[in-house]
Parts: sequence; structure tokens; C-alpha cells
Amino acid sequence: MDLQKNLRKYAKLVIAAGVNLQKDQELLINAPITCAEFTRLVVEEAYKAGAKIVTVQWSDERVSRLKYDYGALSLFEQFPDWQALLQNGIAERGGALLSISAQDPTAFAGVDPRKPAAQVKAAHEACKAFYDGMDQAKIAWCIVAAPSPAWAVKVFPGCPEQEAVEKLWDAIFTAVRVNTPDPIAAWEAHKNSFTAKVSFLDEAQFDALRYENSLGTNLTIGLPKNHRWEGGGSSLINGRYFFPNMPTEEIFSVPDKNRAEGTVYSAMPLNYQGNLIDNFSITFHEGRITDFTAEKGYDVLKQLIETDEGSHRLGEVALIPRKSPLAQMGILFYNTLYDENASCHFAIGRGYAECLEGGLEMSREELNAAGMNDSVTHVDFMVGTDDLKITGIKQDGAEILLFENGNWAF
Ligand code: ZN
Ligand code: ZN
Repeated sequence: MDLQKNLRKYAKLVIAAGVNLQKDQELLINAPITCAEFTRLVVEEAYKAGAKIVTVQWSDERVSRLKYDYGALSLFEQFPDWQALLQNGIAERGGALLSISAQDPTAFAGVDPRKPAAQVKAAHEACKAFYDGMDQAKIAWCIVAAPSPAWAVKVFPGCPEQEAVEKLWDAIFTAVRVNTPDPIAAWEAHKNSFTAKVSFLDEAQFDALRYENSLGTNLTIGLPKNHRWEGGGSSLINGRYFFPNMPTEEIFSVPDKNRAEGTVYSAMPLNYQGNLIDNFSITFHEGRITDFTAEKGYDVLKQLIETDEGSHRLGEVALIPRKSPLAQMGILFYNTLYDENASCHFAIGRGYAECLEGGLEMSREELNAAGMNDSVTHVDFMVGTDDLKITGIKQDGAEILLFENGNWAF
């Protein structure tokens, strides 16, 4: 009973606050077949909100896995024309995109990592209008999660499948504030709560941030001139507000791709395309990765870093207090959307143009000159421990303590 009620509230929430769907707008939904029930509710809420047409691209992990196992590498270097036509068409007509994530964290374990890497690259090349539309704040997009039985039993090992699914739904409802009487109002309040921190950081215009903890992290990253911090949702260039990630707890900006010095240690395992990378460290010199270690998943980390030139540099810096509701639950979700919101992180790869003043109007060359990284990939990795200290360094060398013991110091 409660589950049904909450599913309906969640479906309404992702349409209203997530993609902020407008009357007569198109919606494309990427959904796994394991989430068919929830997906149908979302489709219904989209039509009720006035959607012109809702298209669902169903996926099945087992079918995808078979393609990885039996398909040649060259197969993944191509992208189907019909799919590019669908995705680029949605972007060109000002549609919105919703992705429902329910990935079994081990579904793609052992897959030749060159195949997913080639697939990502081919997709970005073939669907330029689609990805540019998202990067340049022209189309609204939102990623949410829903349990699949395979995912749920990984998060709650030892639980019977049905119980694990229910527990994962509960955790999701808590994280996305569906458990509150009016989730849409709760997200409006959440949006406002980001404002104070973002304006403080924007005004401070730190030249660099220094990260230190007892794992051995000692990394200083530069921030480009006129960087901007973002938190909560995003605005499209037409001014419409949407939440790309639900949940979201992070305040993020873009590092200077040419200024990172020192070593950072991972705080949580990284699940990259179905493979776990754990207890790893990355060392930077002049912004570029010069060395890395990993107790588990070294080859996968190597493959990720060697995707292209931009995957040797940082594209995102994100601050999340350990006190956030997600961190408080203390659950390892094996899902980046969830785990990244429980811990301070960086991303290897592409930076967001919106994090530079006027960045959305800049050419690729101008962004590059401003220190903005570019890559086909963008992968977050968590560095926020309970003893993390972050110091903001101003242009004149003055230092301000930003994070102490994993939480905001002011
Ligand atoms: Zn992030
Ligand atoms: Zn990211």
C-alpha cells in the first residue's frame, strides 16, 4: 500500500522536479526491463503533465552482456544510425531525457574494458547534437534510480530478494525525499539550501584547494579564474530549472586542468562499467595523471585513464558533507548516482562549461584556454573521508578552512 503510494509520488516527482516536463514536450526514457512497473507510472505522469509523446528505450543487462561476450571489438566502435537519429532528433526538437538506473554492479564484471570504452566514444561521436544539448544546457535531463532484484541483493547481502528490493526502495525514498508529505516542496526547499554555500564559494574565488587526510591524500588543485560553483539543480539557457540528478547533495565546480599537484587516495570503491576498482590512488603533476595504484581493478582503472587525453586530467571537483542524509544512511550502494552524493569527489574527464562564467557561450578553444578539460568520458571517484580537511587558498595566499573532519568548517 505504502509502496504503491510512494512509487506514484516518486514518478510525479521525477517528471515535475527532475526533468521539469512542459506541455507538448517530448520525453525520452531509458529504462531497464526490470523497472517496467515504475517506468509505466512515470510514462503516465508524463502524459498527465502534457507530454506530446513519451518514448521508452528498454534495455536488458543480460542482452547487453551477451553482446559484450560475443561481439567483436569493432562492433562497439560503431553506433546504430537509427538510435543516433532518435536521440539527436529528441535534442533538436527540445525534448527531455530521463534515465532510470538499476544496474547490477557485477553485471559487466570481466568484460573486455575496451568494448564499453569504444561504445561510449562511438555514442558521443554519433549523437553529437544529443550530448551537446545536455552539455550546453539546451535539453533537460535527469538520472534517477530504481531497484532491480540483482542490484538490491548486492546492497543488502544475506537478505531474501523481495526483502532486499523493499529495503532498497526505502533507502531510495529517504534519499530522494519521497518519504516527506510533499516531495516537490521538499525539493524546492533543498534547492534553496544550496544557495548560501554556492554564493560564498563564488564570491571567495579561491585560486586553489588543498586536500589532506590520514590515508595519505595531499593534493592541491587549481581553480580557473571566473569559475562558478553549482549545487542542487541546473538552469537551461531558456531559464527553466531542472534536477539532473536525484538524489543530489553535491556542490561542484571545475578544476583547472593544468593545475593538480600531489596524490589523492580513494575513500570508496569505484564501480566502473560493472567492474570494481578499490583502494586506489592517483598522482598528478601539472594537472596530468603521472602515476596510479589500485589494490583491485588496476587494469580497469588503467583503461579508464587511457580512454583519451582528457581522461588523464580532472573535470570536476565536488563537495559533500559527511552529514548529508545519504552519508548518514551509511549504505554502500555500488551506484555512482548514490555513492557520489555521500562523499566529496573528483571526476576524471570532461568538465562542465556552466562552471565557468560565460562558459556556455565559449568555443571549445576558449574553454580549453580557460583550463576546462575535455574528454568523451566523465567518471566520478570518491575521496571524502571522515577526517578530510580541505583548505581554500586565495590568490594572495590567504588560507580559509573549508572542510574539517569531513564536514563544512563554517
Ligand atoms: Zn559530482
Ligand atoms: Zn561527476
